[in-house]
Parts: sequence; structure tokens; C-alpha cells
Amino acid sequence: MLAAAVRAAPLQEGDSMMPALLPLILGSLCPPPPPVSSGVEPNRDRLIEIVYQLASPEFEGRRGAGGRAAGDYLIGQLQRLGLDPAFGDRFDQEFTAGDRSGRNIAAMLPGADPERTDEWIILSAHYDHLGIRGGRLFPGADDNASGVAMVLEVARCLVDRDERPGRGILFVFFDLEEEALLGSRYFVQHPPVPLDQIRLFVTADMLGRSLAGIAGDALFVMGTEHAPGLRPWVVEAAEGLPLTVGVVGADLLVIDRSDYGPFRQRKVPFLFFSTGESPVYHTPDDVPQTIDFEKLASATTLIGRVVLRSASADTMPAWTSERSPWIGEAVAIRGVFELLLEHQEELGIPGAQRALIRGMLNRISRSIEEGTITPEDRTAMLRVSQLVLFTVL
Ligand SMILES: [Zn+2]
Repeated sequence: MLAAAVRAAPLQEGDSMMPALLPLILGSLCPPPPPVSSGVEPNRDRLIEIVYQLASPEFEGRRGAGGRAAGDYLIGQLQRLGLDPAFGDRFDQEFTAGDRSGRNIAAMLPGADPERTDEWIILSAHYDHLGIRGGRLFPGADDNASGVAMVLEVARCLVDRDERPGRGILFVFFDLEEEALLGSRYFVQHPPVPLDQIRLFVTADMLGRSLAGIAGDALFVMGTEHAPGLRPWVVEAAEGLPLTVGVVGADLLVIDRSDYGPFRQRKVPFLFFSTGESPVYHTPDDVPQTIDFEKLASATTLIGRVVLRSASADTMPAWTSERSPWIGEAVAIRGVFELLLEHQEELGIPGAQRALIRGMLNRISRSIEEGTITPEDRTAMLRVSQLVLFTVL
């Protein structure tokens, strides 16, 4: 995850969110959507093995020579799965930007539908981290070995299925995300398939902890504001999983904080998954021993279901530039505000901000009761969220 001058993080909601959100989202749909595709069962031991491997001292915080070694490891994993190289006969895409050089790693699983050979879904995660600084290893277990493990496990599950989905899937690992998204910026300028053939871009950055260390089972997803048709897919993909899904707008983060940025700018529909910035974000303490692997496994299942459904659906939700407010976002942010107030002492939230949160909670609750939120109220809600999360994180 890219550090921000103004830091803010995605939002979440308490246990009551799913029942509250489902009728709100599904009630507006006609006819009802088809059932969730199953068939994604990640292996928890594999997730653990991959995260420990990537965070090990051997890969030196995935910068420089250690970053090269991590890239070689990923190429080996993709070859073992029997996937095709994405860049001609190569799995890697070397690039330089100013005085930095890096390489993206990618493989493809061609679609089974001969009518759709020109339609692709991207599932991605950045694999670089901060390296060794001041003699200390930054292992980046959550940021973003967790996301890489998710992509590799979803890839394995899809390869192991008897039936290949109709659309092709590109599995991409970006380099130098931590350096102003250099890898994904290069990728969109030199994509292995034309950008207008990408029906959905999915990325994940940090899937194994919780927002501010207080958000428990929350998983946030951003991007549905530009493709609202994806919203029920995400909610349904969470069925039966011990996750509380907070569907919020990416504009909550003020700037593009991860690799969805270059795709958003080119109007490619995207989904960005994250469990949020934790207290060990960008510290040497981001170690595998404290990753919540149960949560990572659940997030992997959810994201895998969304990818499989997207690769199989008859039609894909298209990009829409206009961001219409949706009440599910207010429900998610109300949950975060309630958590923040609950933990206000340990988080050191100043008195003035506590009052601000309480005032905004009343306003949001009214909107939720009415079942609609105005653009002005949404903006006010995001501003308060950004201010408080900047203080807390
Ligand atoms: Zn980061």
C-alpha cells in the first residue's frame, strides 16, 4: 500500500451489516441475480507457506536483489501451475522509470469461450515492499505478501477446476507499487492485451490484519461506485464467510493508494480489496507471525468467487463516471464511527473529533432511516472519516 501525505483508510461496519445491507442492495434488483459461483477453496497451509516465504530475510523486503529473487520465485510458482506467460514468451516485464528499475510478473489463463477471446479479467497484487532500511528488514507480510498469496491461491483453484471460465484471466504481480505505483503505471502504458479488452481489474493490498487494529473481521472493497452492478456480486460472494464486507468509495482515500489508480484513470472498471491500514503498517513489525490467516483465507475465497463470476458472466457491468451515493456506504461508515467511539481512549481521539463523529453519526443514521443519502451528506461523511482516520492511523 502506498503511503499517503494525507492518510486515510477504508471503512468498516459491525456484525449487523450483512443483514442490513443485503435487502438494501438486492431489493433494488430485478430480476434476482444468478447464484454465486462456487469452486474456490483456498488451501490455508499454502497461504501460510507463501506469506512466510515472501516475508523471509532471503527476499530482503522485496527490493533490489531481494526483489529480483522474489520475482523469480513468483515466475516459478506460475510455471508450476502450468499458466502461459503474459508477455510473449516471457513471464516478466522489465521497466525503468527515472533512476528506478523493476519488473512486473504476469501469466494468463485463456478463456474457454471462442467468442470471448478478446475479453479479460485481471487479478493482481503488488509484490514489492520497502526493503532493508537502517539495517532493519521490512518483511511486508501484510503489505503485500498477503495479497500475492491470495492471487496465487485463486490461480491454483481456477487451474484445478474441470471447466475453464469463458473469459481469459491475467494474473499480475506489480513491482514498485510503493514507489508511486510505478509498476502498474508502466503496465497500463504497455499492456499485454489492449486495455479496452479488460472487463474488470481486481487488486488487493493488505488482506491479513484489520483497520487501526480495531475492525475485527472487516474487509473493505472500493470501486463499485464506478460499476454499481458489481456491488451485489461482492455481497453475495461473502455468503457463509466470517467477514463483514464494507463497500465504500475509493474517493474516501483522497489519492490513489494502490495499483487500481492507473486503471481508474483510464476508466477500466475496478475492485480494490483491503483489510485496511493496521498499527504495524510500514514498520519492521509487519511480520507473518501476526497475520490472521483465517481472515486471509476467507478474503481469498470471496475474491476468487468474484473473479470466477466475472470471468463466467454473460455480461459485465460497464464503467460509469458519475458516482451515485449508495446507502450501503453510509451503513459501513456508521459501523466504523461506532468502533472509533468505542475505542476512542486507546486511539487517542481528541475531544473535538469525538463530538464531530457523534454529530455525523446522527446525520448518517437519519439518512439510513430514510434509505437515501444526498451528495452533500456523502461529502461531509467522507471529510469527517478522512480527518479522524488521519488522526488515528
Ligand atoms: Zn505499502
